[in-house]
Amino acid sequence: AQRNAHQPEFIQAVSEVVASIWPFIERHPRYLQHGLLERLVEPERLIQFRVSWVDDRGQVRVNRGYRIQHSSAIGPFKGGMRFHPSVDLSVLKFLAFEQTFKNALTTLPMGGGKGGSDFDPKGKSEGEVMRFCQALMLELYRHLGANTDVPAGDIGVGGREVSYMAGMMKKLTNSAECVFTGKGLSFGGSLIRPEATGYGLLYFVEATLAHRGQSLAGMTVSVSGSGNVAQYAIEKAMALGARVITASDSGGTVYDPDGFTPDKLARLMELKNEQRKRVADYAHELGLEFFTGRTPWHLPTQVALPCATQNELDAEDAAALIAGGVLLVAEGANMPSSAAAIQAFHQARVLFAPGKAANAGGVATSGLEMSQNAQRLGWSREEVDARLKGIMTSIHATCVRYGQDEEGHVNYESGANIAGFVKVADAMLAQGVC
Ligand code: NDP
Repeated sequence: AQRNAHQPEFIQAVSEVVASIWPFIERHPRYLQHGLLERLVEPERLIQFRVSWVDDRGQVRVNRGYRIQHSSAIGPFKGGMRFHPSVDLSVLKFLAFEQTFKNALTTLPMGGGKGGSDFDPKGKSEGEVMRFCQALMLELYRHLGANTDVPAGDIGVGGREVSYMAGMMKKLTNSAECVFTGKGLSFGGSLIRPEATGYGLLYFVEATLAHRGQSLAGMTVSVSGSGNVAQYAIEKAMALGARVITASDSGGTVYDPDGFTPDKLARLMELKNEQRKRVADYAHELGLEFFTGRTPWHLPTQVALPCATQNELDAEDAAALIAGGVLLVAEGANMPSSAAAIQAFHQARVLFAPGKAANAGGVATSGLEMSQNAQRLGWSREEVDARLKGIMTSIHATCVRYGQDEEGHVNYESGANIAGFVKVADAMLAQGVC
């Protein structure tokens, strides 16, 4: 902790993982040998660089670019790029650390990484976003490769930004090998990749409820966020018969007691993705209640799906959700629940599905995009969706295997952490001290 004193999110993520796997490590002391834990919490490589670009007024702007190559123990570094003013080393190190375990859970051969910039895409013109992406690639390109490091999207980085970066990569390297996933369909992208994290989250939710003999049909669901993950989580939850009553952004939460419909979701997607407008505009247009500056967690619900950002659900929110009768909290975002909130869910025996298991569908489908690119083939929508569902069901089974107690209660957090840890740790031990 001393070495990383100014990195609270990184310390939070490491502490949560180590605390939850500690009883397992004590039973298997071989994992205490060869400096394994010390090596596992130290990224293999950190890259930080200047990104200089010119805005529409001709002014030179300077941002910071980063890539954290956390672990290549089981495959090339893999993890998204995030563009948001809150991006710093702590946030990216926590994300790369988490990504390492998540990728291990998918069963695909992918190591863990993460990157991004403190660039804020909000309010930037199309040309500014493109020039920024290109300027960032002028440095990042030399650290990437199909067998080295393969980034993707994350907050503030969707298909548009990935495509600009992939285009510049191709130009600089004179090679069309797969170094980004989440690309456009016409140049190597995979069907279902845009939907994958949200759909995968709901496949995991379905598996969790089915394990208890329940189903999502007729249940009330709250979603936070209104970006990529939230939009497709809402779509799949509706398709499975749930009533989705909320969506949000950093401006606040829209509350729709009747629930989303496909038409309402289409309008939200148009406003957010094409017109780059806010959830408040959506609420205003549809005459729905809007809670300015608030998250959805004060509203009673059965299933809570935090899909916005880290630490968006604290102990007070957890208490409100528990009082409102929540059965299941499944994380679409990375580390949206604070440590105190997670503890409260465990104490109240609310099912808690951590992001590294529940939102692994995105990176799993990125892995499938890499396979398709390597084969120079494109699979059908049905094939990719079926594989995604298969992977989420298998991650669920793995969590049950490692996380179920004698009374049959499943601690998905320990299950996911232990399963991810065992895979990465065994690979590191086999490869010797390096
Ligand atoms: P998007 O940029 O598409 O959407 C992010 C959403 O979260 C927006 O609604 C945004 O609102 C909101 N948000 C971001 N920061 C804050 C904040 N500080 N306070 C409140 N709201 C905020 O990102 P994604 O949907 O891709 O990612 C959402 C989460 O899911 C992240 O944690 C990401 O790491 C995780 N994830 C994403 C995957 C993917 O495939 N995309 C895969 C696995 C995990 P606003 O517009 O106001 O900023």
